[in-house]
Amino acid sequence: MDADLLHRYLEFYQDLGIKTLYRKELVSKSELPPTELPAVLPPMTPASDTLLQIIQDMGDCKRCRLHEKRNKIVFGVGNEQSPLVFVGEGPGADEDAQGIPFVGRAGQLLTQMIEGTAKKEGMDLLRKDIYICNVVKCRPPENRTPEPDEMATCGEFLFRQLTTIKPKAVCALGGTAARALTGHKEGVMKMRGKWFKWRDIPVMVTYHPSYLLRPYNQDAKREAWEDLKKVLHFVYD
Ligand code: URA
Repeated sequence: MDADLLHRYLEFYQDLGIKTLYRKELVSKSELPPTELPAVLPPMTPASDTLLQIIQDMGDCKRCRLHEKRNKIVFGVGNEQSPLVFVGEGPGADEDAQGIPFVGRAGQLLTQMIEGTAKKEGMDLLRKDIYICNVVKCRPPENRTPEPDEMATCGEFLFRQLTTIKPKAVCALGGTAARALTGHKEGVMKMRGKWFKWRDIPVMVTYHPSYLLRPYNQDAKREAWEDLKKVLHFVYD
């Protein structure tokens, strides 16, 4: 196995949450011909990874069934050096058509929430200054919740995005993003407003903007604003 392939395997296992691997000693090193001496293990995530490289590796992705009905892969948008990343669930119809996350009604609410809260809190911050992406990059049919295997497969790319951007904090929008990033299984109502971690990056969980669009969820809207205030002060104060 060459170093590149080994590297891909290690990243894959890392994304599955497996942090320690043991190598079986097949033969003693002295018995190996010089060309088969084990390679020095490369770092789990290459220091040189870039968003462009991730897009290239994703290619015309057919790794899971979500590719079958998609129009566009929705990779992410915004400032690639942002100290704050918002992670949603997966593209809806508008996002699938345009290839940009959070451009439909939920996206407009998210933009208002980010820019409105920042303004109220005296921060000079626009949507374009932060980075936004989703757990899965292709629209689930009928906007259904992504299946665990779809999340696991596409999560590999999300994790690389976060490792590359290295934000100071992540805001998980809704239960799917919260589960993908924290591994916790509780509902979003229990998790919202609290800090968790993805690797060493703090993650604030809040409601998904689609949930806030429903007229009977006005209390949740106020809570989401509180959560957002917390994240913005943590990142930008
Ligand atoms: N909902 C999401 O989770 N992501 C989008 O990009 C749009 C709607």
